Order: sequence, then structure tokens, then C-alpha cells
Amino acid sequence: MFEINENYLQLNESYLFSTIARRVEIFSAAHPEADVIRLGIGDVTLPLPPSVISAMHSAVDEMADKATFRGYGPEQGYSFLRDKIAEIDFRQRGVKISPDEIFVGDGSKSDTGNIGDILGEDNVVAITDPVYPVYLDTNIMRLGKSSKIVMLSCGEENGFLPEIPSQRMDVIYLCYPNNPTGTVMNRQQLKQWVDYALRNKSLILFDAAYEAFIRDEEIPRTIYEIEGATTCAIEFRSFSKNAGFTGLRCSYTVVPKTLITESVNGKEISINALWNRRQSTKFNGTPYIVQKAAEAVYSPGGQHEVGEMVAYYMRNAEIIRKGLAEKGWTIFGGENSPYIWLKCPNGMDSWTFFDRLLEECHIVGTPGIGFGTQGEGYFRLTAFNSYERTAEAVKRIKEWE
Ligand code: PLP
Repeated sequence: MFEINENYLQLNESYLFSTIARRVEIFSAAHPEADVIRLGIGDVTLPLPPSVISAMHSAVDEMADKATFRGYGPEQGYSFLRDKIAEIDFRQRGVKISPDEIFVGDGSKSDTGNIGDILGEDNVVAITDPVYPVYLDTNIMRLGKSSKIVMLSCGEENGFLPEIPSQRMDVIYLCYPNNPTGTVMNRQQLKQWVDYALRNKSLILFDAAYEAFIRDEEIPRTIYEIEGATTCAIEFRSFSKNAGFTGLRCSYTVVPKTLITESVNGKEISINALWNRRQSTKFNGTPYIVQKAAEAVYSPGGQHEVGEMVAYYMRNAEIIRKGLAEKGWTIFGGENSPYIWLKCPNGMDSWTFFDRLLEECHIVGTPGIGFGTQGEGYFRLTAFNSYERTAEAVKRIKEWE
């Protein structure tokens, strides 16, 4: 008989969001009259901005013409997009990243999930708790539930930020602004992690999927604002949340050429070259039409439009924050992030609160326990629904006995 990757059997039986969807489905079937408001999953609701749509229409026309049709493109992405990313997201912010350090992908879920392909199995991997489940699950898929995966507890007492470990970690996943807690790391805090990685020759995998939601100037927009980070960190960015690409799919990974390690036999290894090899072998590039759409995000019109989208969601975050604070609940996040993390009132556990909020207010959120044991007793609401629905949800919560 053939064998399977037994590590898959160690994963939680179902993906968190499928469990939630099932519970909501059962509730809605039993209460067809209930007007359910979804503040649960992190999907966006605004349509793609006009500049993006217009660029896609032109790209579709190019694909229809023999003279301009494109087949396979470069696995790393077209230079028209990589040049703009390097210039606008980095160089204009004073960070030296070159286009050949950018790898265009089809989403940060794939990028953060696939990066493990180039890493050894003996690494001690540090992951925060609570966490975006993809980092943990993909490491369990690779390594099994091994003692090599170390959870860094992020509780309320330390503002949901991990403490610098006393032992050596080889690989550290960090995500700021954070999903699910909505917390951010300031320059000083992020510097401590970069210094730790440099001291220990560790690798930081920095997920900046929510960078566009940062409002506070003191919060770094990229880990490469911190000195030394280009020698110890890979950064992941996505077009999903800032530009509405959740259904279109585009992301990029920054792998600086100064990120160097050694093979077991002491040979110098470029991580950029290794990732390039992995991508060229297993990935045939993000669709041309999608890359044209992503390029339009960097046009002056596109920049203005995505700025307005982000502002729209942040207004939702603000009304959730304000409403819950007025109700006297303890809340975190939502200031530089589309996620509001709340402490379940009256000591309720996450799933009890989920059920009561669904049954009594007809609102769907995400139980904190779904993001890790440290999430028990907490709950995540997102700012991605419409203003009207968000305002209605806040009203219901405020009137809730
Ligand atoms: N990283 C984090 C922290 C996320 O929350 C998400 C999506 O919710 C992703 C990555 C995945 O984004 P993408 O749509 O680019 O796959």
C-alpha cells in the first residue's frame, strides 16, 4: 500500500473557517428570518478599484491579439510590476530593495505556506500564539507535531506581543499588523527581534499583509526599515486586503540578496537563489492580467483609490472600537489594523461567546481559541464589511443585554 504524509493526520480536523461556516449554516437554516451580519472571516467587500479594472480590461484585449498575446511569463513576475514595487513600496520610503529581490506570487497564503520548502527539517521554528493558522499548519505538515515547533505565548499581560526567547530559535514567524490581535510592533520592538536574529543567525519570516492599514508614523511599514534586516529577514506582502485582490490573487515576497546562510558542508548559500530555484521549479508565474491589475495599484489613480478603500475599512474599525469601548468591553487592535480583538465579556470562553453573539445578535465573528490556546477567552471582529452593516452590528451589540 502506498503511504501518505502522516503529518497531515496531526492537523486539526477541520480548518477553523469551515467550522464557523458550518455553524452559521445550521443557525441560518433553523432561523431563516435572521439577518446575519458577518464580521468573521477576513475577506473584503468593496469591489476592485476603477484603475485596476481598467488595466485588466486592457490586458484582456492584449491577450486577444496575436501581436500582444502572452503565454508563460517569468516565474518571478514581470519587471513592469517588480520595478514599481521596489520603487514605490521600498525605495521611496528610503529602503534599498531591488526588483530582483521581489518575487511576485499568487497570494501570501501560498508564499508563507511554501517558504518552508527551502528550510531544513532540523530548524527550531518559533510561532506566536495566537497566530494566523497557516504558519503552524504548514510546519506541522512538514515536521509533524514536533518539539521543534515552539509556540511564543502572546497574552494580554504583554500586549499580545511575544517576548524575546531566552533560547535560540532558527526561524521566527512574525506578523505585524497582527492577524488576529490587530496589534503592531513599534520600531524599537521590531529592532529587538532583528538584533536577536542577527545574534543567533536566525531567519525572520515577516508577514506584512496588513501594512497598508498602518496609520501611526512610528510603526515601521516594512521590516527593512530596521538596520540589519536585509541580512536576516524575508518579507511577505499581499494585494488582497489593501487593493481588494482576495479573489484575484496577487502577492509578493522580498528575499534580499544579502540574506546568506551556509549549507551543512560550509558552503555559502544565497536564500534569494534558493527561493528562485524553488519558484522556477514549482510555480509558473502569476497571470499576466493579474500582474497588470497589480501594476495599476501603483499608478497615481490606483494609489488614491486604494488609499480610499483602506480609509473606508478603517472607519469601520473605528466605529467598532468606539462602540465596544462605550459598552465597556476590553478591546485591542483596530487602530493600525482592520482587526479588533476583544476580551469576551463576563469571562465567557471564545466558542460560548461565538454562539451567543450569533444566536442573540445574529453577528458572526471568529473565536480567539481558533488561533491558538492563548486566544481562549478572546474574539476577533473584522472591519471588512460595509459601513452600514458594521454600524448595524455595533448598534445590535450596544443594545444587547
Ligand atoms: N497573511 C495573513 C496574516 C493573513 O491574514 C492572510 C489572509 O487573511 C494572508 C497572509 C493571506 O493573504 P492572501 O490573500 O494574499 O493569500
